[in-house]
Amino acid sequence: MKIVGLDVYQVDLPYSGGEYRLSGGRNYTSFDATIVQLTTDTGLTGFGESTPFGSTYIAAHAKGVRAGIEELAPHILGLDPRHFDRINDAMDSALLGHHHAKTPIDVACWDIAGKAANMPVCDLLGGRIDMTVPLISSIGTDDPDEMRLHAKRMRDAGFMGHSLKIGASEQEGGPMLDAERVKTCLADKLPGEWFLVDANNGLTPEHALRFLELLPSGLDFVLEAPCASWRETLSLRKRCRAPILLDELIQTEEDIIHAIHSDACDGIGLKISKQGGLTKTKRQREIARASGLVTSIQNTVGSDIAFAAILHIAQSTPQKMLRCALDTRSMVTVTTADFDAKIKNGGTQAPHDAGLGITPKMDTLGEPIMSYSL
Ligand SMILES: [Mg+2]
Repeated sequence: MKIVGLDVYQVDLPYSGGEYRLSGGRNYTSFDATIVQLTTDTGLTGFGESTPFGSTYIAAHAKGVRAGIEELAPHILGLDPRHFDRINDAMDSALLGHHHAKTPIDVACWDIAGKAANMPVCDLLGGRIDMTVPLISSIGTDDPDEMRLHAKRMRDAGFMGHSLKIGASEQEGGPMLDAERVKTCLADKLPGEWFLVDANNGLTPEHALRFLELLPSGLDFVLEAPCASWRETLSLRKRCRAPILLDELIQTEEDIIHAIHSDACDGIGLKISKQGGLTKTKRQREIARASGLVTSIQNTVGSDIAFAAILHIAQSTPQKMLRCALDTRSMVTVTTADFDAKIKNGGTQAPHDAGLGITPKMDTLGEPIMSYSL
């Protein structure tokens, strides 16, 4: 089997909550999705999505996804999509870095391989684990009471995991406001609930230490991505009792090895487009597993196609190391595919259909904006 065609689609995904706010004054109202369709000489096709979280979350942006695909397309035409490592070697030889551009191609290969084998992608990724994948809510920075209400709405919808965003500037209220946000939201914590407090790399160690000192003891949460650099993170790690989960700093296998070697964290956020596709996310999951790191499996953001990839790798991740998965569908207002993964009691399961199990809505995708063929 060989890849004979690559089509690129662009879709705007408005944020479902109006305005999404992160540390450092970053605001997002809409996301720019790139969706790739690969066609093979057998007639089988596969889809993948890459939607960066704006241009200020990590070093990735939507126009860069499409420019990267333009570089990559000639190097993957003619290859067998089932040879995941060879596809990734070819992409890495053609373009250094730019994981976000490689992701939709890699994910589309897994979709095709699943269809060819008549197996769901979670089975190809190691095998389905019989469990409901717990989903996490994502609660942007706001007034403490507003964040508490947002968490309550998500709890009422059955979510047992919550990601609270912090990172107030001194002018906004600084560590005092961040501590108030966490205290207020955790006041309602139920047994079995799990809280991430995510600064998205927005704190200095000084801010983080002041914030932690302001909290009462006994609050049960994991501090996510406190600082932007390894120096800051390692300095904080030495002086901080809260477990730490790293996200933006972990993008490559080398990053995980560095985190393990320096004992920088207790868990990692695996985001498929940040890690470079399912092939690399799987490799990084296995390194995390061998090291006793827990994982939060996500994507930067995205629609149904991005969520399908998340759900399949989460469904094949041992329960002990899987804290939660992010349902990106809940963050956007546009549906790009039919995907039979309904939420029940705050969780869901990957469908049993072959491949990703999605049926893209071609009328929503529109005409391809770029096409390549053998
Ligand atoms: Mg994060």
